[in-house]
Amino acid sequence: MKRLVVLGAGESGVGTAILGKKEGYDVFVSDKGIIADHYKKVLINFEIEWEEQQHTEVKILNADIVVKSPGIPDKVALIQTLKAREILVVSEIEFASKYTSAIIVGITGSNGKTTTTMLTNHVLKHGGLVVNMGGNIGDSFAKQVAENDAPYYVLELSSFQLDGIIDFAPHIAVLTNITPDHLDRYDYQFEKYIASKFRITMNQTEDDYFIYDADDAVITDYLEKHPIRSKLLPFSLKEKVENGAYVEKKNINIIIDNNKLIMPTTNLSLKGNHNVKNAMAAATVSQLLKIRKTTIRECLENFHGVEHRLESVLKINNVQYINDSKATNVNATFYALDAMKSATVWIVGGVDKGNDYSELYPLVNEKVKAIICLGIDNSKIVNAFGNCVDNIVETQSMKEAVNMAYKIAERNENVLLSPACASFDLFKNYEERGRQFKEAVREL
Ligand code: ADP
Repeated sequence: MKRLVVLGAGESGVGTAILGKKEGYDVFVSDKGIIADHYKKVLINFEIEWEEQQHTEVKILNADIVVKSPGIPDKVALIQTLKAREILVVSEIEFASKYTSAIIVGITGSNGKTTTTMLTNHVLKHGGLVVNMGGNIGDSFAKQVAENDAPYYVLELSSFQLDGIIDFAPHIAVLTNITPDHLDRYDYQFEKYIASKFRITMNQTEDDYFIYDADDAVITDYLEKHPIRSKLLPFSLKEKVENGAYVEKKNINIIIDNNKLIMPTTNLSLKGNHNVKNAMAAATVSQLLKIRKTTIRECLENFHGVEHRLESVLKINNVQYINDSKATNVNATFYALDAMKSATVWIVGGVDKGNDYSELYPLVNEKVKAIICLGIDNSKIVNAFGNCVDNIVETQSMKEAVNMAYKIAERNENVLLSPACASFDLFKNYEERGRQFKEAVREL
């Protein structure tokens, strides 16, 4: 019997353990932290041996294969020891893909993964495919392979999941964009992070497809230097492409081998240029998988969006309140401000991950009438925007931030929470931040 050791008992780890058990492995799960109660119950139910708050080396170093949670960096001692002993260490995605023959759509990028994944899943489902959605969203890929396998998967993939692959090859890979993020895990070298994202194409063949943002110079430069085998299907807001997707006269055009789909961008349910890109990516996948054009159009028109991503909350006195709490970096906020059609009161701040705010200056000059800093240390924001916005105030309470915004915003204007920062100075996570915003708005 082969021994599978799973490090980290979160969603992906527990899913891996279930799949390993089903496939006849001797499974051991080890977590350095405390395992959530509901996952403990699952492990007990499946009669899987586990430990918490420690890694017992004798029970780990005898593994034939180790599946490591994406949260554990390679540099920790245990992983180094495993590698020195030449024990195979892979990610859940790699492990689980061995046990399904499904056609996989893999979606990665710095921003837009969740939105594009959900949108793609929405279209494929309505198009009649039996499809599972997983990866960083919802039930883990491994658990679904074990319990409810399907002929198609749409997977949201982080760079950490991709770092742990060996043979994993999505038939269709999507790369939404690349901006600096998570650099602490990549020795502060942007090049390494870029290479990690491109691993999504590493095992693709000439029969596979790579859909990417052709307006993103980081992606196109890398592609020029490192050609890949799969068929390229770029999408662009700026230029016409021969095969792929582009916008012309406010229409999305998708062309794959002379087969063309056209739809007006004004009909898209999700607003903002970034969402035009996400829609182009999702529609290209759907067209490749032969979904009917009318279904693709309808689904892009009726998709409700994802909570905390440029989510319209309420209109009060004709002021639109928008929750974009998931914007934890400057690029995401760039697109949020870009999507604002009128003057905006902008709530920003939190834990700065080394932000360079200068790319926001033109948008802030044009659209932002007041800034409400919501964070413990707001000095960087005040310094960055002190010269372009007269009205900058600070608070550490969401309720107060929303009340301030209410007083400043006038008819036909927006109040936008798009923090460009992580949330954990004042909140548990970005979801909590977004929920508090919505609650405060509803109480106005
Ligand atoms: P991810 O899963 O990659 O974090 P999300 O879909 O959750 O992406 O969106 C994260 C943030 O980025 C949100 O604020 C959203 O409005 C913004 N966003 C979504 N799509 C894009 C895109 N294509 N480019 C830039 N920002 C985007």
